[in-house]
Amino acid sequence: RQATDSPLYALMAAASNYYRQALKSHSSRGPAINYLKGRGLTGIIARDFGLGLAPPGWDNLLKHLGGDALQQKAMIDAGLLIENPETGKRYDRFRDRIMFPIRDSRGRVIAFGGRVLGDDKPKYLNSPETPIFHKGQELYGLFEARQHNRHLDEILVVEGYMDVIALAQQNLRNAVATLGTATSTEHLKRLFRITPSILFCFDGDQAGRKAAWRALEAALPCLLDGRRTRFLFLPEGEDPDSLVRSEGPDAFRARMQQQAQPLADYFFQKLGEEAAPNSLEGKAHLAALAAPLIDQIPGANLRRLMLQRLSELTGLNDEALQAASATLVTAP
Ligand code: ATP
Ligand code: MN
Ligand code: MN
Ligand code: MN
Repeated sequence: RQATDSPLYALMAAASNYYRQALKSHSSRGPAINYLKGRGLTGIIARDFGLGLAPPGWDNLLKHLGGDALQQKAMIDAGLLIENPETGKRYDRFRDRIMFPIRDSRGRVIAFGGRVLGDDKPKYLNSPETPIFHKGQELYGLFEARQHNRHLDEILVVEGYMDVIALAQQNLRNAVATLGTATSTEHLKRLFRITPSILFCFDGDQAGRKAAWRALEAALPCLLDGRRTRFLFLPEGEDPDSLVRSEGPDAFRARMQQQAQPLADYFFQKLGEEAAPNSLEGKAHLAALAAPLIDQIPGANLRRLMLQRLSELTGLNDEALQAASATLVTAP
């Protein structure tokens, strides 16, 4: 699906080496080391995830790698350099940031995320789309999770780099992140080739709850019988990173075991809030919302069971519900 022998891979590897080395020995590494320590990370985890440092300044990487015009052109294609369209001046995209390499399934660095050390904006800067990086398809941490586990009984899907890394720091080494993009059916197809069970664990805020429902919608077409998806909702204001650090890995594991909701439960709870089946209109509304979604489930058993549940909630029989999912009603 992408240029497998692109020269950009070597360039990204060289950039990643540079950033990693800078975190180890650059004169400006002090604040970065303190920042990472402050977030509870050890050198071992930093090494496992290849964390690095883009030092302050406009041309550190440019000077290190950008020998000739051709090389600089490739660095622009790789998203490492930016060229000012008016002046033609070229400068490093990532400056004064902690660097998170994003690896593909073979472990090759294909992009970076960079985080400011403080509260500046934008908090994260990501590589642009390039010939070797297609945002909507990649999952941060998947390579590392597979490296660390022969079998993945379950994969956690979280929102951010630091969620993946903080969980790994607590020895929960099966988390991946979608990196600011919505979870897609493509993402989930890839994950279900590796694991039978996915647990979504997004931030405890409005954006996180919205992301969960979108993930549910993306998951429906993947739900063969034998696969499962669950949803763990976190207390308001928490994300997996903050929570696993404050309560520890055992409490977090207990939360996963006791509080994660199966997809079907979350499905009927959420739709029941939108269309409460306590009036005929409510039942009609619920059936109209739920039937077309249930219809997307390829697993015949789960599909039937969910239709049965919908039937119990609304009093509509199978035939009526089937019709409800087939008809697209347009109002005057
Ligand atoms: P941290 O804990 O480091 O403050 P976070 O991961 O909790 O960050 P969120 O605001 O919850 O940050 O965002 C989740 C993810 O979305 C980030 O890890 C990052 O991948 C992506 N993201 C957030 N802000 C931006 C941004 N301004 N530009 C691009 N991507 C972003
Ligand atoms: Mn968030
Ligand atoms: Mn977050
Ligand atoms: Mn966070």
